[in-house]
Amino acid sequence: MKTVLQRLLGDKNFPTQYTHHAALITCSCGYLFSAWFNYHYQISDISNVYFQLALGSFLAWIWFRSRFHNQFNTMAIVFMMLMPILSVPVNWFFNAGSCGPSYILALATLIYISATFRHFGVYQKIAQLLCVLIPLPLLLLEIQNPDLIFNYADLHTQQVDLIVSFVLVSLVMLLLMSANTMHFRLEQQKVEALSDQLRLLSEQDSLTGLSNRRILDREYDAWQSNTDQLCLAIIDLDWFKQVNDNYGHAYGDHVLRTLAGLLKETAINSNGLAVRLGGEEFVLLMPISQMEAFTCLNVLADKLRNTHFEHGTITFSAGLIKVKSGDTQIESLKKADTLLYDAKNSGRDRIATSHYLQ
Ligand code: GH3
Ligand code: MG
Ligand code: MG
Repeated sequence: MKTVLQRLLGDKNFPTQYTHHAALITCSCGYLFSAWFNYHYQISDISNVYFQLALGSFLAWIWFRSRFHNQFNTMAIVFMMLMPILSVPVNWFFNAGSCGPSYILALATLIYISATFRHFGVYQKIAQLLCVLIPLPLLLLEIQNPDLIFNYADLHTQQVDLIVSFVLVSLVMLLLMSANTMHFRLEQQKVEALSDQLRLLSEQDSLTGLSNRRILDREYDAWQSNTDQLCLAIIDLDWFKQVNDNYGHAYGDHVLRTLAGLLKETAINSNGLAVRLGGEEFVLLMPISQMEAFTCLNVLADKLRNTHFEHGTITFSAGLIKVKSGDTQIESLKKADTLLYDAKNSGRDRIATSHYLQ
């Protein structure tokens, strides 16, 4: 069923086309049914039956060109002009003029064009205007030449035709409304998927794939209040400027990505969070004791030291603190940064933390 619908209506990712194709098929079938109905019950002139047959087939052709020949825009304009210029007047003459169902048809066309072709600018405006204005000259013509109008045989026929037209157009309108609801749902799904993608991109560091500072800003408070114990470490590569200057930026990027991979492992093992703060500085949040966090960082340092890099060993220095309840992110980062500074000053390749590990 799904593949048949897709074949008939096109790609759901293009909701306007998808729903318009559904409308074209529905209208085409509606006209063909009307032709049969009018012919069978002899409600209108035979030339009206031919006209409805022709219009039903023409709408099917429009659908075919639009769906399979990539001509959605051209065919949409043809449709917009065809309905008020041809369909409404012919319907007027053959279906009892102002006493027949043509007003219903013009109104339904106006609603459809207004709802569906919002991006067609001047073409949509012209079509809307035609739908509103066309009944006026038709009425004048009818008043001056009543003989032009094919009238109902009797009141009963008129009642039947009006009610059938009303029901048909109402059904089509209902279909269109549900198609429009689906249209908006599809658009909404697209927007939601895009905004998810954007959010992911805006919260992820593109070089390393780690979370970026935004995540830390957003989640620090939650980590602090949802964990019994929390440690924070700032990790900074040693002599990284020299690495970049001597071996190039691409090599530096490779080092950063390698460290980020190791940080991810550490974060997973400690149920924590690894963040790229910026440049060659990273933050680890670990909901474990300071002793355990210190061990984790030492394991991480060993892993990096033992990773083979083309131009020699790479190390980092770190400042590790136990986050005090009530300390803001800025305060915690500042404390860890002071310890990092100590680690750098006392020779690098080390982890500085408070003397009494808790
Ligand atoms: P220290 O041991 O005192 O930390 O010295 P350092 O050279 O590591 O520190 P410094 O702050 O002087 O240099 C940091 C360098 O990091 C400078 C910049 O070229 C490099 N860097 C920052 N971001 C990136 C990046 O995205 N890619 C690369 N390849 N290098 C970066
Ligand atoms: Mg550095
Ligand atoms: Mg630095």
